[in-house]
Amino acid sequence: ALGITWTTDWIRRSAAVVAEHRVELVTLDREIGDGDHGENLDRGFSAVLAKLDGLPADAVPGDALKLVATTLISTVGGASGPLLGTAYLKAAGAVGKEPELDGAALVALLTAARDGIVLRGKAEPGDKTMIDAWTPAVDAAAKAEAEGEDEVAILEAAASAAEAGAVATEPLVARKGRASYLGERAIGHRDPGAQSSSLLLRAAAEAAV
Ligand code: ADP
Ligand code: MG
Ligand code: MG
Repeated sequence: ALGITWTTDWIRRSAAVVAEHRVELVTLDREIGDGDHGENLDRGFSAVLAKLDGLPADAVPGDALKLVATTLISTVGGASGPLLGTAYLKAAGAVGKEPELDGAALVALLTAARDGIVLRGKAEPGDKTMIDAWTPAVDAAAKAEAEGEDEVAILEAAASAAEAGAVATEPLVARKGRASYLGERAIGHRDPGAQSSSLLLRAAAEAAV
């Protein structure tokens, strides 16, 4: 099972990967949005990183997820802040005070995160949003868990499905967010939020190895 060490490692890796891909995410958002997605997430996760060492010694995964949630909500000035903030908040609620997360708990965490984004942003699959990374990730994680795979394999399945989901946003017309104003001009461009979510989910899998 995965505990607080995995959770904080996931968060550190998330901050690192967002910083590493900042320019790429800005470029994607410049094509179909306002060009700030990489800056928004980098600002948010840098703020998270600065607070991470302040977690108490007896912190559980839910505490770390809640810290991410409140920090993203207060520091990311863009659609993605409240959306991802709600995702981490619902994920924290799903794992509660549990110190160790087994496969079923990880599926519950990912499902709650996805449901939180939907609750807040009302996007459906195929709307060309971050949901198009999260939903296949949740489905793949649930399938792997049902097949008796371990935590590493479950997170690996989620990350791979999220990456494929992000790529699959390219031919879509956007029905939510700024890209929806572009109509057919959004076709051929990958959704920045789906791409960043696939990076976050890959970080979760890498932290579990
Ligand atoms: P902003 O659009 O306010 O500049 P960002 O650039 O940080 O915010 O985030 C844009 C991303 O947010 C999009 O690429 C998309 O994935 C996601 N997004 C926007 N609106 C929604 C929504 N209603 N539901 C889910 N995701 C959304
Ligand atoms: Mg933007
Ligand atoms: Mg913006």
